[in-house]
Amino acid sequence: MEIIRTILDELPKGKISSAAFEAANIVIYTQDKDFFLDGEVEVKKVVDKIKKRISLRADESLLWDEAATEKFIRKLISAEAEITQIIFDNARSIVIIESKKPGLAIGKNGELLQEVRKNTFWTPTIRRSPAIRSKITEAIRQVLYTQSAYRKKFLNALGKKIYTDWDPTKKEEWVRVTFLGSARQVGRSAILLQTPNSKILMDCGIDTSQKQDKDKFPIMDVPEFNLKELDAIILTHAHLDHSGLIPYLFKMGFRGPVYMTAPTRDTAALLALDFIGVAYKKASSPLFSITDVKEMVKHTITVDYNVVTDIAPDVRLTFYNAGHTLGSAMVHLNIGNGLHNLLYTGDFKYARTRVLDASITKFPRVETVIMESTYGGKENILPSRREAEKEFAEAIKKIIERKGKILVPVLGTGRAQEIMLIVEDLILNKEIPDIPIYVDGLVWDITAIHTAYPDFLSNTLKGRIFKDENPFGGSIFKRVGSSTERKEVLEKGPCVILATSGMLVGGASIEYFKNMADNKKNGIIFVSYLGSGSLGREVKDGAKEVKIEGEDENETINVGLEVFSIESLTGHSTRNELMAFVNNMNPAPRRIIVNHGEQSRCLDLASSIHKVYKVETTTPRNLETIRLR
Ligand SMILES: [Zn+2]
Repeated sequence: MEIIRTILDELPKGKISSAAFEAANIVIYTQDKDFFLDGEVEVKKVVDKIKKRISLRADESLLWDEAATEKFIRKLISAEAEITQIIFDNARSIVIIESKKPGLAIGKNGELLQEVRKNTFWTPTIRRSPAIRSKITEAIRQVLYTQSAYRKKFLNALGKKIYTDWDPTKKEEWVRVTFLGSARQVGRSAILLQTPNSKILMDCGIDTSQKQDKDKFPIMDVPEFNLKELDAIILTHAHLDHSGLIPYLFKMGFRGPVYMTAPTRDTAALLALDFIGVAYKKASSPLFSITDVKEMVKHTITVDYNVVTDIAPDVRLTFYNAGHTLGSAMVHLNIGNGLHNLLYTGDFKYARTRVLDASITKFPRVETVIMESTYGGKENILPSRREAEKEFAEAIKKIIERKGKILVPVLGTGRAQEIMLIVEDLILNKEIPDIPIYVDGLVWDITAIHTAYPDFLSNTLKGRIFKDENPFGGSIFKRVGSSTERKEVLEKGPCVILATSGMLVGGASIEYFKNMADNKKNGIIFVSYLGSGSLGREVKDGAKEVKIEGEDENETINVGLEVFSIESLTGHSTRNELMAFVNNMNPAPRRIIVNHGEQSRCLDLASSIHKVYKVETTTPRNLETIRLR
């Protein structure tokens, strides 16, 4: 490979025993002890020159044996760091130290890690053990550890592909995007990006509010979509309408990379496993199996915010905080070495919330934006967050006073954790009595993932976790895991219950709803977007009687409970926030393509942006292709 040859030519002769790609990163191994200890300076010079990341690691022959290394680490790092696990990744000369207090394990300026490296020749990395144990994070890490040899091969092959120069005989340069879903609708997000050299799919979701398969899934039975030719998938965040169908693509034989942030990987895998469970409960056969979810995890490449990564010979990816859910990202693509810069916002919140910071508005360069418009209509000018929280508090107070229970259907990630913090605050400030908050299984597991990745949380929450506080650890939060426990909750007194799904389409929220619906004392508070056709939308629109799909036959349920809908608590940008985002975007884009909104809202937002900011706007339909360049 040319790039590797260039690197080797720049370094002192005979020091490097082998070199490999880890996707876009380049790893060089040395058998020379002195070069391993002092060679960083030389390597840094090459990095500055070729502008690619290079890691220097010790060749296997230098490594201490594992038992001795583990002993050394445990002696060096104080017990206060609470090491939970030490794992050796032989294929890559890396030792992973999992600790409850990573700061103490790293030491001042990383000095403890330096000691490990200098003495044992292993390259240490620290991982945070979450404050709440997360089975899914553990399971995923396990899959990755046991698949280490496969991953090494996969990442090396991928790197070769990325660094193969693009075909110079293809003189023409163009960039096109095709909407396979999510155009003038919310749900089944899937956008295909094509250049003469690359085909990249951004998101691949399922519209769970639809009943017919043809409306549920992105439209992939078209000539421009060929799974075999797909170079990469990029996932913005872990909500089923963006992530849901990705395991299915693996079932159909896809074996390429999927790029996302680490918390998105854990949450997307968890939601996919839950999706399989929900299908079994409905006695229908699931769309994909656990094996397919595992394949997705095996082929996932996690990328942090603000880090530029080559993902194809002519495409560079950077993720930016989208403020929507834990790990949610805006996708910035530099295509054709500066030929065109595209920003795909995915779902985003341009306002601070308790859990997350507001989305980013500053980018290196952007010519085209594809942006969501879930609340893009003129009628979607919503009350401020403070007013929304007040409204929420009053609804809770009202129901508690009459000794009712409150169901808050949530998407699992995003709103759930926000609501937990709001209710905790209300109790701490004695605005409502000390009632329990029941957090149903899936929501609890996702909350645990939040404690594993403090770097993705708002500055305030991050600070609390770094001080070894667990913001979701208060005794008022109670996990509900089984249907027996669910029954117990329903027999007890006033409480708040958080359960998936947000639209009352599958998941535990339906079980609670069935039991709580006819009692006038109870209340339901919707805080998520409700797709038309979903049970949640029916209830919100005032249905007094609804039908719920049962195992054998449909059940009819009387709706007597009080219905609240507090849209301002949404994780999406409100109409004003969408407009403010465009106004504050730096640099200003040349063209904005509006998607991910009901038709009227897409059109409304596009025309307002055009009028106010004089930017060209487009509102494509599904299957429309737009040439960006
Ligand atoms: Zn979302």
